[in-house]
Amino acid sequence: MKSIYERFGVRPIINVAGASTRVGGALMPEEVIESMRNAASESVSMSELQGAASRYISEVTGAEAGYVTSGASAGLTLATAAILAGCDLGKIENLPRTDGFKNQLIISREHRNGYDHAARLAGAILVEVGMNEITANAGVRRTEAWEYEAAITESTVGIYYSQGPDSHPALSDVVKVAKAYDLPIIVDAAGELPPKENLRKFIEMGADLVAFSGGKALRGPQSTGILCGKKHLITSVALQNLDMDEFFEIWNPPSDLIPKDTLAGIPRHGIGRGFKVSKENVIGLLTALKLFTEDAYASSYIEQRALLEFVESAITDETVKVEIHDPIEGSPVLTITIDLGLQRKSAFDISNELKNGNPGIFVQEVGLEKGVITIHPLNLNKERTELLTNRILKVL
Ligand SMILES: *Cc1c(COP(=O)(O)O)cnc(C)c1O
Repeated sequence: MKSIYERFGVRPIINVAGASTRVGGALMPEEVIESMRNAASESVSMSELQGAASRYISEVTGAEAGYVTSGASAGLTLATAAILAGCDLGKIENLPRTDGFKNQLIISREHRNGYDHAARLAGAILVEVGMNEITANAGVRRTEAWEYEAAITESTVGIYYSQGPDSHPALSDVVKVAKAYDLPIIVDAAGELPPKENLRKFIEMGADLVAFSGGKALRGPQSTGILCGKKHLITSVALQNLDMDEFFEIWNPPSDLIPKDTLAGIPRHGIGRGFKVSKENVIGLLTALKLFTEDAYASSYIEQRALLEFVESAITDETVKVEIHDPIEGSPVLTITIDLGLQRKSAFDISNELKNGNPGIFVQEVGLEKGVITIHPLNLNKERTELLTNRILKVL
């Protein structure tokens, strides 16, 4: 059978880069695809659906409320918009202009990354603090919690924190500062699943809003994410994301998501209206989240390792070193390290040849500059693994 992509003139590829957005993210389990197919054939009130999503996300994260966003990045924009405007209808209407109200988010310099554009998009000004003198080769210390405190002014509206395996200072220390000054803290935890404990961990530590990707290891739809946290902030998110073309007299959103009686009216479409989430995406995300929390993916990590062992045992080439790396949880990865003294091709050359051949094979980018080719098995099956192995052997 012809691939749906070929029908429109696009070659399907083998994605061994993992859940990277540029190569389409994670492939969805059959159960998720089926749930989306079913969701597509019936109508539903979107506010009622997000109300139900909020209750389920709250149950699995321990947060007061939750929301399905169109990705973690969209979640970070909505989180910032919620912190900037709350449920003030005038402020909601003004975003991304923030003249006359608090608009500064404090961020450590070493947390700056391309995704913080999401926060700037909502109208926030990022105020940078701290230094990483270790990477600068100029000292022994990194950003410290007191530096956040020292930067707080009348214009400070909150703190922005990027969570990763080596985030510094510890979230718990930054939360202490935020609490002392009654400032909300947003955590970008897009790629922090698994382990599933992280669904609850940052909320438990005191984060006000936490954003996760739905299209990475959760294996939900690529353009989904989860935002969870304080109820009044999630209410603001809903007000700024949902379609608002309604008469107040008949407007009837779920009261636990949007307490109508606290509002003087309905805002116009908010800054988040462009980040709309379809009913199919909400159901797909919730189904994937359910599978993930019930450990349905655990056995696939073992299957993935067997596929990587097949690749490992096939490569007998002396010019490269092949290793499998096991994480404590989640997918193992396979690395092929090129010995440039022996192999005439660099990791970039090999990556390019793999990419441009048939089928195209897209490996992870990280490590190529050091001569390491990384194979992530998330989207592999037996057939793709055999194709991949043959191509690697040819290119080497
Ligand atoms: C992937 C990622 C994002 C963006 O997530 P999407 O769900 O693709 O929008 C944001 N921040 C970090 C650190 C990420 O790794």
